[in-house]
Amino acid sequence: MEMNIFENKENANNGPRSITILGSTGSIGCSTLDLIKFTPKRFEVVALTGNENVNLLIKQAIAFKPKLAVIGNEKLFNELKEGLSGTKIMVAAGKAALVEAAEMGSEIVVAGIVGIAGLLPTIAAVKRGAIIALANKECLVCSGTLFLNEVSRSGATLLPIDSEHNAIFQVFDFNNSSSVDRLTLTASGGPFIRSSREELLKVTPSQAVKHPNWDMGAKISVDSATMMNKGLELIEAYYLFPVEENQIDILIHPQSVIHSMVSYNDGSVLAQMGTPDMRIPISYALAWPNRFRTPAERLDLSEIGELNFQKPNPKRFPALALARDALKMGGAMPTVLNAANEVAVDCFLNEKIGFLDIMRVIEEVLDETSNSTLHQLSEISSCDYTIRKRAQEIAFELT
Ligand code: NAD
Ligand code: MG
Repeated sequence: MEMNIFENKENANNGPRSITILGSTGSIGCSTLDLIKFTPKRFEVVALTGNENVNLLIKQAIAFKPKLAVIGNEKLFNELKEGLSGTKIMVAAGKAALVEAAEMGSEIVVAGIVGIAGLLPTIAAVKRGAIIALANKECLVCSGTLFLNEVSRSGATLLPIDSEHNAIFQVFDFNNSSSVDRLTLTASGGPFIRSSREELLKVTPSQAVKHPNWDMGAKISVDSATMMNKGLELIEAYYLFPVEENQIDILIHPQSVIHSMVSYNDGSVLAQMGTPDMRIPISYALAWPNRFRTPAERLDLSEIGELNFQKPNPKRFPALALARDALKMGGAMPTVLNAANEVAVDCFLNEKIGFLDIMRVIEEVLDETSNSTLHQLSEISSCDYTIRKRAQEIAFELT
């Protein structure tokens, strides 16, 4: 399909750009607000959303004065209302209100909710043709072609924030995509790259969420430890860039200096590098097609000295093959993979199953599910619902 998902919509009048942050209380959301604080004249915040951390949402709303603040958890509505009483900020709660926040007129929407919970709000922002700064990879994994069809129908602009995809976006020659041979997604390998199987059996949630290079939310940190994050990113890259699945490689690079690479048919390899600070790729999406100064630490290669690389061990990281197979099978399989992973990670974080059980749950769910085609958002949501229930049963059997 011919489409330009990265079409230039830079504000012509150079005034402040209006921005909505879905998931403002999370790691991506806080990094985005930090950039806005650093360069306040550039942005006008329209809406902020959180889910549980109502106190932080109140603090953010008082500081950034959006028109609307939404809390996903309806039970926290009164707290939000009280916390923002006496201000002009409108308040709302619940799933429908998250979609309303996304629908409210703003030029840029940062999709920073974690998991498929971000799908409906993000699609709502796509449908009104906004610039989508996409961190929420799960929503693209779950709805791939449908998501891209909505982007081309509405004329929305899709800019990746995920550091690997942002790196590729920065060095991909979209005018000569046939000269691209391969994409290489780099992966740190997570905190357990050298752990034995015995050690992995005993991994606790607090060990798993401590990522060696990046400071991220709990779910993506566990995904990094199992390398399912890279599996989801493989699927994300397939949808974002005009390449086939077999043109995308994964390479372990423990220092997280090279954020990803594009190999061209003349033998050139272009990489984007930087310190591991999400404010760099976020700022690139917020300023695109320009750049602005960020407070991120500068890269000092002489201090780092050495960069290392190795192929991922498929036995050690079965998540990579599971994700690649799901992508090759297509249809509902990426949605199934994502739902099983979300449930398994949640069970692990709540100490219901062990670290190695995460992959057992996903493998079992994938094995027993027959593929189908999902044509509509409602079919994606119901597939997600059914698979979640089944994944919970399988996880329960393991406890
Ligand atoms: P996080 O857990 O720190 O924040 C998640 C945000 O989503 C919070 O604001 C939370 O309130 C909101 N949220 C959670 N469940 C919700 C629900 N049911 N309904 C509505 N809102 C809900 O996560 P994060 O690390 O900021 O990651 C957010 C997304 O960005 C994920 O998809 C992740 O894969 C992606 N991402 C994150 C990083 C990073 O460095 N943190 C890097 C690349 C991609
Ligand atoms: Mg990433």
